[in-house]
Amino acid sequence: MCGIVGIIDQDSAIDKIYPALVALQHRGQDAAGVATFEQGFHIKKGNGLVLNVFNQKNIERLKGTIGIGHVRYPTVGAGVVEDAQPFISTTPYGIALAHNGNLVNYFDLKKTLIENELRYLNSNCDAEVILNLLSIELVKMDLRIFEPEKLFRALKKVYERLNGSFSVVSVIAHKGLLAFRDKHGIKPLVFGKDETGYCFASESVALDLLGYKDIIDVQSGEALFINCEGDCYRKQIEKGKKATCIFEYVYFARPDSVIDGIGVYEARLRLGKELGNECSTHKIKPDVVIPIPDTARGAAQMVAEVLGVKHREGLIKNRYIYRTFIMPTQSERIEAVRLKLNPIKSEITGKKILLVDDSIVRGNTSREIIGLLRSFGAQEIYYALYSPPLRFPCVYGIDMQTRGEFIASDKSIEDIKKLINADALIYQTVEGLIRGVGAGVRGFCTACFTGSYPTDIPPLIMERIEADRTKKNLGSGLEI
Ligand code: SF4
Repeated sequence: MCGIVGIIDQDSAIDKIYPALVALQHRGQDAAGVATFEQGFHIKKGNGLVLNVFNQKNIERLKGTIGIGHVRYPTVGAGVVEDAQPFISTTPYGIALAHNGNLVNYFDLKKTLIENELRYLNSNCDAEVILNLLSIELVKMDLRIFEPEKLFRALKKVYERLNGSFSVVSVIAHKGLLAFRDKHGIKPLVFGKDETGYCFASESVALDLLGYKDIIDVQSGEALFINCEGDCYRKQIEKGKKATCIFEYVYFARPDSVIDGIGVYEARLRLGKELGNECSTHKIKPDVVIPIPDTARGAAQMVAEVLGVKHREGLIKNRYIYRTFIMPTQSERIEAVRLKLNPIKSEITGKKILLVDDSIVRGNTSREIIGLLRSFGAQEIYYALYSPPLRFPCVYGIDMQTRGEFIASDKSIEDIKKLINADALIYQTVEGLIRGVGAGVRGFCTACFTGSYPTDIPPLIMERIEADRTKKNLGSGLEI
């Protein structure tokens, strides 16, 4: 999971890119980068938060009215600064590119680029592969006269070689801004237009912040090119079955975002309603419903409403601790969990508590929280998840790529309940998840719950991705 932004404007691009990246910070805290263009490319990237990477001095250096930005959560890249985006290619014209997603066939493409196409790749990041493929296909065109249609034809060739998820923003020097989304639309990408230009971003919150009124989803398989005169060209490059990542609504995206026409907050409320109905079929009598902050708040409120039980805040989060999900190493996550939550004793002691959470990956966090609440005198603790058991690795850019990391991959719900020391454990059903998020709309990737992947995943590739994740010891991202 990463965040991207692309701007073409009459005013300084960095003035919009910087706040947009801050708004997208929840999508990755590992690295941040910006490339703007004015006569030449101006680039600044580094490891850390947006606030740490950029300062007045380097912001002043990022000149130009066109640019792209990125916040990184490491997927294929190993997390070193060389993997930070955007990447630049000198031919043709000069191209800067950043992406959110994960190429399933990254290793094969990289090998082919190096061995057959004699390209030098300086990173372990799949954005560099997409950039090289785009550069290669563009060079094959007769570009003495640049036309958006030629760009789209080159892009079609690139799409044919890519397997996986990709939402991309790219600056083509002296030509304009390009944005495109994979044919299943797995990762979100929206854009807005005002009187001075266009802005693309991973989530609508970034555009809200910048004052864009009409926010539109880039369609699955669609590319948009805005030239330097501000003319917009749209093209359906490929068509595929819609498969928006359903986990965006469960966890990743900010609740104030709207993705593919569905409000994330509203989706979480509906998921809570579905979960409340599920809870009512279990023999539990909670005194109070308490969310695990922050993601589960809306859902917990609805669970309480459905069950007719009090809803209270019983766990307070230290807001200065990063989300544990995006802490890339196991040791960092363990520390963060310990620091993260503290109970409100008056809401816990002597109470039968129904805790509502978004998901369980390994179960370590859930066990720690339950232990914490028991130490504060909770009488009984029921644990309810507004998503189904996570069982299958995500190969599309979410850092939970090895099966062995999922507590539910080889354990029954009863076993998990015992392991986390809960008095009851209630999961959302897959049907409830799709109903809750979709509200009648269909077309989601649910692969981490169902094992049904929207793209072709040869077993060998899956093994290789899992082995790579294990080797890098990045571990699972959701929680421990
Ligand atoms: S596998 Fe899960 S996390 Fe990955 S894209 Fe699909 S729904 Fe999202």
